[in-house]
Amino acid sequence: MKSSGIDSKVFKTFPVCSLDNGEGIRFGILKYSHTVKDDMEFLLGHSIELVEVSEKIFFGEEARKEEPSSLFEERENGEEETAVHLLEHLIEYAAENLCSDIHIEPFQKGFRIRMRKNGSLFVYRQYNSSLLSELIARIKILSSLDISEKRKPQDGRFTQNLKNKKIDIRVSSISTIVGEKIVLRLLDPLGLEYSMEGIGMNEKQRTLMELLLKQPQGLILVAGPTGSGKTSTLYTFLQQLNTEERNIITIEDPVEFQIPGVNQIQVNPKAGITFENGLKSMLRQDPEVLMIGEIRNAETAEIALRSSITGHLVTSTIHTSDSPSSIIRLLDMGVEPYMVSAGITAVISQRLVRVLCPKCKTEEKTNDSIFALDNQTIYKKVGCQHCKDGYVGRKAVFEILIVNDKIRSMIHKDLQLDAIRKQGERMGMVSLKENLRELLLQGETSLEEAYRAITTL
Ligand SMILES: [Zn+2]
Repeated sequence: MKSSGIDSKVFKTFPVCSLDNGEGIRFGILKYSHTVKDDMEFLLGHSIELVEVSEKIFFGEEARKEEPSSLFEERENGEEETAVHLLEHLIEYAAENLCSDIHIEPFQKGFRIRMRKNGSLFVYRQYNSSLLSELIARIKILSSLDISEKRKPQDGRFTQNLKNKKIDIRVSSISTIVGEKIVLRLLDPLGLEYSMEGIGMNEKQRTLMELLLKQPQGLILVAGPTGSGKTSTLYTFLQQLNTEERNIITIEDPVEFQIPGVNQIQVNPKAGITFENGLKSMLRQDPEVLMIGEIRNAETAEIALRSSITGHLVTSTIHTSDSPSSIIRLLDMGVEPYMVSAGITAVISQRLVRVLCPKCKTEEKTNDSIFALDNQTIYKKVGCQHCKDGYVGRKAVFEILIVNDKIRSMIHKDLQLDAIRKQGERMGMVSLKENLRELLLQGETSLEEAYRAITTL
């Protein structure tokens, strides 16, 4: 970044314009905000003057004349920002910071980028450049939208390659009185968003999870086969828990996403960091919340349970088919029943199903004994220009087993899978199969996807 150091740092974060030549003392803002002033002073380490200015000054000629490059980011090699670079940069920033949406908003002069993080929008940057039309054209080409169509709303999607990662992005364009506004929604590699709703939890499940995450201690396990979105669920939980007053430490193999504010440790046997010894060191770091990538043997299970019993909120994944069998798996690993019963608070199991394309799916009356369908209307895939294979995106299906006193009292060496499942259902656990049936009846997924989901593992 070539432009004056302070300004570019400030512009990245705050909705302000510079009122002097990059000395970073006087700034203009459209609507005065104490918070912005305080935060900027904190960041810059000296006091600033923040004054309300008109849109004309904010986006207008004055700022452009004073500092033509301060509102642009220049590439390191000195070439001017292009739409291609800018788009890449925005997606990379949003992905690294776990922002779910990027809003590209036109103004009379210039445009604004806002991003949504943890459910709220913040201003990422303002630009007073003519790059907007190029940027919109670039996005439209990537997502196969009609470039010449500027009035009708359009939807599309594209995949952006970042370093070693692919990011799926959903695009929506709409025309406002000053021009086209584009919203990009980032989906993680499995096509999920990092929010309870985004990963597919229904209202009842969200309420339950929010309650569980409010507990100061306990082990919450997420179960499912490889590729069922377990990690996305753990990241979503961490996002919810990620506040300044909590010390959150994770040990992962590999670290899939970086979460600012969370201490993430990468398993690295060459450097002597294994799940087992990494965990022991983590406990000496005064954590409130621990995330353990995976419970794979008795030793990791015991450390996870012991940490939970001694006052930590612990989350982890386990490779089992459903919630009740995760408890059996821990016992089979050789973990003492009293530890399982004292440490575990909930098991969530999950599967991913593809979501039927709303533009082309067709109705079909169906009988099916597995999903108890008796000539009911569900939908099947077709395939169209919009979706190609009949599906758009994916969604997780959950089964949440709360380990309450009743279940705790049942945990002993000879615990039978059926007994625990029946007890769970008696207490209101909605099984994966029932949740899949619900999705079928809502027309969200197809019978073939539902079958695939219950037969994997
Ligand atoms: Zn379609």
